[in-house]
Amino acid sequence: MLRNFAGQNVYSLSLEQVFRRTAACPPIGELGGLYNTGVTEEGYPIEQCLSASMFRVRPDITWKYMLQIGEAVMQCRPNPAHTIIARWEKEIAQRGGKTVVFTQNIDGYHRLAGSKNVLEIHGSMGELFCTECSWEVPLDLQNLPSLEQLKALAQDSVPQCPECKAVIRPRIVMFEEMLPRQTLMQFEEEFDGGNGFDMVFSIGTSSMFPYITGPVYEAIRCGKTTVEINPATGELSHRVAYHIPMGAADALIRLEELTRSSYAAKSGAT
Ligand SMILES: [Zn+2]
Repeated sequence: MLRNFAGQNVYSLSLEQVFRRTAACPPIGELGGLYNTGVTEEGYPIEQCLSASMFRVRPDITWKYMLQIGEAVMQCRPNPAHTIIARWEKEIAQRGGKTVVFTQNIDGYHRLAGSKNVLEIHGSMGELFCTECSWEVPLDLQNLPSLEQLKALAQDSVPQCPECKAVIRPRIVMFEEMLPRQTLMQFEEEFDGGNGFDMVFSIGTSSMFPYITGPVYEAIRCGKTTVEINPATGELSHRVAYHIPMGAADALIRLEELTRSSYAAKSGAT
């Protein structure tokens, strides 16, 4: 399987839990000590706090938890899994192939690790925009002062547009919001009904969203090689060609070692 990487197109799907596992970032459910009560101190489930309807009526609550997520993201860094995927993209491109990362993560770590073809289906914390005017600004998630500056924009705990004083927000998909149409269209174009790629990896996600599992099923139907890297057994595990029951970073490090030794053996033999 691994010897066939050269010149092929590889599609890597979703790294939802990679950074959580190896970099000790808290999952959303652990923010603000939610594990004990199941609701925030305002008395709402976290999903409601991070929803479009809450943002409309109580943006201060939504911002409070978005800032916690932002701080958690900044305390971490891309891990070896992000780095290896970025390296694959570069090496596969050198052999005439293409890699696309389709991710639910909003942490921006794939780009930070060097991946270029990244489709962020839930948006990214790395860009702020005004809900009323055209003001927008990139946000360096790895640079703490920029978040401090963001907090300085806050009036009554809600960061405001420096141009028109309306509420600003990151370009992420909140609960109750539609997925970004342009990203979906880009993905459909790349994926081409399952024919756009020779290999499909589902990495570090146990998500059952149809837009996550659907492409893997399409790839299976098209006879493509499918790999799931997931320590747990999920819906996809028995359908993919290869289920690797390991954490993302450990599995990708091992895969890369195997790939390198197989290339070395091949070039040594010729
Ligand atoms: Zn504005």
